[in-house]
Amino acid sequence: MDAAEFRRRGKEMVDFVADYQENIEHRRVYPDVEPGYLRSMIPSEAPLEPESYEDVLRDVDRVIMPGVTHWLSPHFYAYYANSTSFPSILADLLSSGIGTIGFTWAANPACSELETVMLDWLGKMLQLPEDFLSETQGQGGGVIQGTASEATLMALLSARLKTVKCVQESDPQRSEADIISKLIAYTSEEAHSSVEKASIIGGVVIRMVPTDEHFSVRAETLEKMVAEDKATGYIPFFFCATLGTTPCCAFDKIDELGPICNAENIWMHIDAAYAGCAFICPEFRPLLNGVEVIWGMSFFNPFSIQQAMHLCFYFFLPLHLFSTSLSPHLSSDSQHWGIPMARRFRSLKLWFVFRMYGLRGLQAFIRKHVELAKTFENLVRGDNNFEICAEVVMGLVCFRLKGSDELNKALLKQITRTGKIYLVPCKLRGRFVLRFVVCGRTTELRHIQEAWKHITELSSELLQNLFD
Ligand code: PLP
Repeated sequence: MDAAEFRRRGKEMVDFVADYQENIEHRRVYPDVEPGYLRSMIPSEAPLEPESYEDVLRDVDRVIMPGVTHWLSPHFYAYYANSTSFPSILADLLSSGIGTIGFTWAANPACSELETVMLDWLGKMLQLPEDFLSETQGQGGGVIQGTASEATLMALLSARLKTVKCVQESDPQRSEADIISKLIAYTSEEAHSSVEKASIIGGVVIRMVPTDEHFSVRAETLEKMVAEDKATGYIPFFFCATLGTTPCCAFDKIDELGPICNAENIWMHIDAAYAGCAFICPEFRPLLNGVEVIWGMSFFNPFSIQQAMHLCFYFFLPLHLFSTSLSPHLSSDSQHWGIPMARRFRSLKLWFVFRMYGLRGLQAFIRKHVELAKTFENLVRGDNNFEICAEVVMGLVCFRLKGSDELNKALLKQITRTGKIYLVPCKLRGRFVLRFVVCGRTTELRHIQEAWKHITELSSELLQNLFD
């Protein structure tokens, strides 16, 4: 493909994507395919000779589209934080077009510098303490990580390194292996599995902290566990708090947990994968109070991702010490801030989106989702057959039919089978619960009303059959 053909095909592709998104609500949100459907539809080996673009595109319709779950559909209520925007798609195209790998400043100065400044812009939108910004000449700053799991792993590994160094300073004879075998991390019993995975990769023990009636970790519970573990010779070193848990969007009490972590020399990281972006709205910012004492936080940027782009702020990162800082206003080379060395020019997406939405536009985007979620909550509360299972703080509503888990499983099965809307379940205190997440850019009130009508029709049929 030469530049002339790319020009033509590129315009066609933009039309294809615009048509796809404009008409997406007419597609079945959850595909009607069985596992393994794709293999028999394409050859078992890569072609020896080049094929035509037309052939490839034809197969997008024939092979790919029937197996796509349409995350951008307004009928998609399954998982968190899936939105994208046209400015971000265009920035993605530009990023691929520039095709840079900006692992050091010299590898691409614009890539390094824009990411540093964009993360400062974001830090200011979130009203993070100055220590978290790179422009303040401290050790702080932000970096785009590939995923939330990577961000947590980075934080845990950094904490491990810091603790080993710290213990060896007072006890130089003690081996690294011995110290690591005694390290212990903590996270909420409601935390995402990526925290446990990070502990497995990091080779350290982790304990799940029980939560209160709001599914939040409280200071005294953590304090007690830390004391118990210290008494048996463990070295508490890392706590991952969650702001916006995956099952029900609960918030750990970071203002009371931070001081304990500080007193015990425990690195506290916040996983705010879903809820973090909402802190740009003053009404949600109090949930982040106490951030002053934590060591780092990370979250999705829902406005610019298709695959999760993860934003991570640190105000102290030991790995960072091994690299040379280029300028007081630049974070050190980004290759030292994460697992991969190579990095795409993803800050372009932030730059386009921040500028084309503005802070007010981004706030409006979040508020709309929360408002629609509240509307759904009210619909559920107005129906005596259903119950709400957790406080609705942002865009997630956890609900269920009053009755057995089996009944709720049957309802979800019907919802998935009909394919009109897509939801996924979770377990809360051992009970099977349905999650309804409002996250789409094009989700409107009428979609919420239609979704509720559909759910109540299916549940009436189920209840009817039960009593027949
Ligand atoms: N943390 C929380 C609170 C999440 O909700 C999720 C995913 O939904 C993750 C971490 C994992 O995200 P990722 O797929 O980016 O690793």
